[in-house]
Amino acid sequence: MEQTLSIIKPDAVKKGVIGKIIDRFESNGLRIAAMKKIQLDDAKAGGFYAEHKERPFFGDLVAFMTSGPVVVMVLEGDNAIAKNRDLMGATNPKEAKEGTIRADFAESIDANAVHGSDSAQSAQREIKYFFSDNEVL
Ligand code: ATP
Ligand code: MG
Repeated sequence: MEQTLSIIKPDAVKKGVIGKIIDRFESNGLRIAAMKKIQLDDAKAGGFYAEHKERPFFGDLVAFMTSGPVVVMVLEGDNAIAKNRDLMGATNPKEAKEGTIRADFAESIDANAVHGSDSAQSAQREIKYFFSDNEVL
């Protein structure tokens, strides 16, 4: 059983589509192993996206991720990492396939509704970044 980290970003939380997004996961064989709603600050959001620190959009990304509460989750299932990325769709919602979360709930590359770990290594780091072992059930 594989685990991955999912974040419902501030735009989707504000729109009131937390439940609709979680339904996509549960309806496609991904189990919610952990979940909480939190407000990120600059340090927590910047540390999470540390790999993008030198990119021109880093400042905007941190400002967006701290613009309101997010829901962080651990999703568990067969091929959870790839399955979640498939359900999310492309980073830019305009390029995301019909029926994906980003195509249906996101407006722009900056405000793109969800995050999902992109590898086993990042999943492990990202899960530990938000959850202690006894919170993943
Ligand atoms: P995420 O890591 O949030 O799941 P991703 O893995 O699809 O998204 P990354 O390349 O890791 O995409 O970029 C992280 C985030 O940075 C994206 O979700 C997007 O909001 C923002 N981003 C990426 N590329 C650009 C860009 N060229 N211009 C503006 N923002 C961008
Ligand atoms: Mg990424």
